[in-house]
Amino acid sequence: MNVKNNQELFDLNTFKIKSVAKYFVVVKDIDELKQAVDFAKQNQLPVFVLGGGSNILLSDEGVNGLVIKMEIKGITFLSSLRDFPEPNFSTAQLVEPLKNLAQENHDSLVSSKTIQVIASAGEIWDDLVKQTIEKGLYGLENLSYIPGTVGASVVQNIGAYGVEVKDVIDWVEVFDIKTSKIKKVTGNFCDFGYRDSIFKKSEGKNLIVIRVAFNLQKNGKLKTDYKDIQEYFENKSFWITSSQAPRKDDSKAIVDDEKLCFSSSLRKKKNFLSFLRAKRNFLLFLREVERSETTKQSSVFCPFVRLCERSEAIQRFLFFCSSLRAKRSNSENPKTTLKELRNAIIKIRKNKLPDWKKIGTVGSFFKNPIVTEEQLNKLLEKYPELPHYKSGVSDIPQFKIPLAYILDKILELKGIKEGNVGLYENQPLVLVNFGNATFEEIKNFAQKIQKKVKQETGLDIDFEVVEW
Ligand SMILES: Cc1cc2nc3c(=O)[nH]c(=O)nc-3n(C[C@H](O)[C@H](O)[C@H](O)COP(=O)(O)OP(=O)(O)OC[C@H]3O[C@@H](n4cnc5c(N)ncnc54)[C@H](O)[C@@H]3O)c2cc1C
Repeated sequence: MNVKNNQELFDLNTFKIKSVAKYFVVVKDIDELKQAVDFAKQNQLPVFVLGGGSNILLSDEGVNGLVIKMEIKGITFLSSLRDFPEPNFSTAQLVEPLKNLAQENHDSLVSSKTIQVIASAGEIWDDLVKQTIEKGLYGLENLSYIPGTVGASVVQNIGAYGVEVKDVIDWVEVFDIKTSKIKKVTGNFCDFGYRDSIFKKSEGKNLIVIRVAFNLQKNGKLKTDYKDIQEYFENKSFWITSSQAPRKDDSKAIVDDEKLCFSSSLRKKKNFLSFLRAKRNFLLFLREVERSETTKQSSVFCPFVRLCERSEAIQRFLFFCSSLRAKRSNSENPKTTLKELRNAIIKIRKNKLPDWKKIGTVGSFFKNPIVTEEQLNKLLEKYPELPHYKSGVSDIPQFKIPLAYILDKILELKGIKEGNVGLYENQPLVLVNFGNATFEEIKNFAQKIQKKVKQETGLDIDFEVVEW
């Protein structure tokens, strides 16, 4: 075990805050984790578990304790739930299951409908999602392209496009800092809520997630009813070529996509309308990425393109036809595959969210407010167009209100910037560090937003990010 002093954390948090860990250690297996926890106990240090650092707000003064960077890896696909010894959950008993389980690598997927996938906490979340989709397993696809690690996905109960990770979790294996023992706990024990779990509360703070078991389906149903996904599939060409067109780094992939679509339609010539639609996509896209390298390579089509471009009326008519067709085919024949849905979600997310590898961000900084029916009715009197969705399974109806709507349409704060901090232009729920922002600056800015929302709507909004 190699404990470092005063480790810089700038590159280890996506908010890009300059901070230092007083003590820092990377753990790659359970023995190292035990040693690290022993070190913290001996030196009376608080423990901070770090995954991908994509949901933490670090103090400028540094982290006064031992930061344990979780890098325990491993993914196992169990062919059948029967292959796995049933744990006794009633007492959440202390177990030593790691050695036994490591040998149980059932990488062959057989007849059972449910496949259990066991992933270690240090695995990159999106690598896991990708692997499950490659194996044709349903359950994690809507959570594609969320940054971070498997361990933190449980802590945060990550969610996107109508799915939360709790929906597919069977059990979680945790290391108890107090006892230095490992135990398995169920979803019920985890007390999942909206971006919340027991691991964020005082009762669960001493638990480090080490492995998670997901029950995934071999023949599942895709969840595509979320507005953004619907819009994407209903009118893919428009989406790609609209003002929301992906930024430069995506242009190659999209150009390739569109070229493929265009040339395959040319080859088949089975369906005139789809051929026209493909051509239309291609033309629109050419305009959008005129200066891109890849587009220049497609000069073989240029004379044809120029000719067609002259007739705006035909263009508009073709576009109308293609929209109608896309809508009809989507509702009548929803043949979207797991991979297509993942690709769609990746494109939607790249378009809507900042690239965390380049811009300081933690994604949604705030949680969407949840209100009672009475609160909702009052709000609707004032803002009749306020979107709202039924939330949770409690007997008393609750409603989630998209905070992005309040920030954008009611408070008109989308894209505002104060010094080094601001709200992202495409998604106001996302707070951005434009460079060198400190903890103080970010917190002050966020508190101002909280105040404005309270003054205007009476709603209290909470941080989604975890403060260290
Ligand atoms: C651009 C962007 C988009 C995002 N989109 C989404 C989204 O769509 N949906 C969503 O839910 N989130 C989203 N997030 C937030 C973030 O990706 C998730 O919360 C993610 O799960 C954090 O993972 P991490 O490994 O980076 O956690 P970290 O930031 O390292 O840690 C987060 C918290 O979890 C604790 N923790 C980490 N690992 C463990 C462990 N093994 N055991 C116990 N505690 C642990 C940490 O101590 C900390 O308190 C987004 C973030 C960014 C930057």
